[in-house]
Amino acid sequence: MVQPLRAGLRFARLRYTGKRGLEKLACGRGVGQVRRMNSENELQSHYRLLLGIEAPWHVKDVKLELSEKRLEIQLTWAAGQKAKCPECGQACTLYDLAPERTWRHLDTMQFQTIIRARVPRVDCPTDGVKTIAVNWAEPGGRFSRLFERFAIDVLLCARSVKQAAGLMGLTWDEVDHILRRAVERGLSRRELEKLSHVGIDEKSFRSGQSYISLLTDLQGSRVLDVVEGRTQEAAEALWDTLSEEQRAEVEAVAIDMWEPFMNATQAKVPEAELVHDKFHVSGHLNEAVDQVRRAEHKQLMAAGDETLKGSRQLWLYNPMNFSQEQAASFAVLRDSGLKVARAWAAKELFTRLWTYRYEGAARRFFKQWFGWVSRSRLKPLIKVARMLKNHLENILTYLRHPITNAVTEGLNSKIQMIKSNARGFRSFDNYRIRILFFCGKLDLYPL
Ligand SMILES: [Zn+2]
Repeated sequence: MVQPLRAGLRFARLRYTGKRGLEKLACGRGVGQVRRMNSENELQSHYRLLLGIEAPWHVKDVKLELSEKRLEIQLTWAAGQKAKCPECGQACTLYDLAPERTWRHLDTMQFQTIIRARVPRVDCPTDGVKTIAVNWAEPGGRFSRLFERFAIDVLLCARSVKQAAGLMGLTWDEVDHILRRAVERGLSRRELEKLSHVGIDEKSFRSGQSYISLLTDLQGSRVLDVVEGRTQEAAEALWDTLSEEQRAEVEAVAIDMWEPFMNATQAKVPEAELVHDKFHVSGHLNEAVDQVRRAEHKQLMAAGDETLKGSRQLWLYNPMNFSQEQAASFAVLRDSGLKVARAWAAKELFTRLWTYRYEGAARRFFKQWFGWVSRSRLKPLIKVARMLKNHLENILTYLRHPITNAVTEGLNSKIQMIKSNARGFRSFDNYRIRILFFCGKLDLYPL
């Protein structure tokens, strides 16, 4: 049911002095403005002031739809008034009024508030027919600037996009529209000067063998961009999101021992040094220790020996973080002379590599370590040691550029949350927009 709001206007009379008061207020203004004010009732003028709109825009009507808990404010452009071309700024005669559009504005108490207007189109001698800009919303937006700003804050604070959408009474589509526009604004304003240390990393996307690749600014702890897949082509596309000048600034890249990423990086930023992240290296060593444990455990169990039962975490965790009880049972295992104990010792010993200041000393250490592992007869470990030997040059770069993708790992939990909160994105593009919205450190707000 549509009802004019006049019945609820008594309170407004306390503040406004009626038509005569407004005439007084209008003294000294242009004739057109006085006429407009005279034709406005108190409610209309009240809303004009609240919205902060300026002549020749004025409030034509305010309707309260009680049953739908909605308030609608109809704006119109005063007839015969010229308008500015949005391209060149010159005052032009009107061509026509565009079809009516609506914008959601901040709520009025518990009522959703909608602005309705037909926006003039000007006939510019230079630019042709153009729809003029309005001060309450950005071009192409479905929401007022103030609403978009508020929605961005709610999205950033809420536990999930779903929760934010529920709080604001927005559909998924509307939320996507706000997220996308915010990210577009942010990307267009982003400054990428002195991007010296970056990381390139992969994450799983959807379930199964689906991946995305991320480019991150390690100093700024922000995601720069995201592409689908983890091929060389995907990684090259990531590098192409930076200009040639920006790429030339990059000194070092934290990267996994993953050939497609390495090839893409060497092709696109040939001056930069590759640094194999120490966490990725220890990940490979941990995996080797675990393989040794699994094989040995199976063998022992076959003979009825349960020594290694339930010990998986002990071999992977940092002993510094053990409880007293864990430390005691681990001390026994460590000195047991088992294969897994030797594999673990090799892994632990390797961490010394990261502490060297001089490359020569680090090389000598690696040679000794590699020799020791080679003689260990621990196949999974030997395999990893060979891989590390092949990539040694890009491991030793860590001594010059102690960077890691740990920054990305920190963003990881955020990205994981985005993924689990969305339960399957309709498209990769939606996923990318959300990652950039929440992890891009962008300036998201409308002006
Ligand atoms: Zn123009």
